Amino acid sequence: MHEMSVAQNIIDIVLQHLPEENSQPVQVVTVKIGKMAGIVPDSLEFGFQVIASETPHLENAQLRMEFTPLIIHCPLCGKDFEINDPYFICPDCNNTNVEIKSGTELQVTEIEIDDSPQEES
Ligand SMILES: [Zn+2]
Repeated sequence: MHEMSVAQNIIDIVLQHLPEENSQPVQVVTVKIGKMAGIVPDSLEFGFQVIASETPHLENAQLRMEFTPLIIHCPLCGKDFEINDPYFICPDCNNTNVEIKSGTELQVTEIEIDDSPQEES
């Protein structure tokens, strides 16, 4: 399953970004997923939960997914267009030599750590 390795990547990134002395649980990991990244959200969530449950500090982490639209840029018109179908054609001038601006990315954008003070006993 492709999403399993994606989930592993996400968790690797989270671990790299945790402060070295961190001992607080990670609560929420936010990822930005392009509409065209080819991710099945349910599968990614499942993979994330499976791996997180075995990873220190991430046992109870939730995955929050934000989806970014597919945006192309036409160099001829100099405009950006949000498109709903994966046809990479400028809707204005039918230029097919367009650039993809967003919609294929997969990025960890936020890591929320429970930083409420621990109770001293
Ligand atoms: Zn154009």
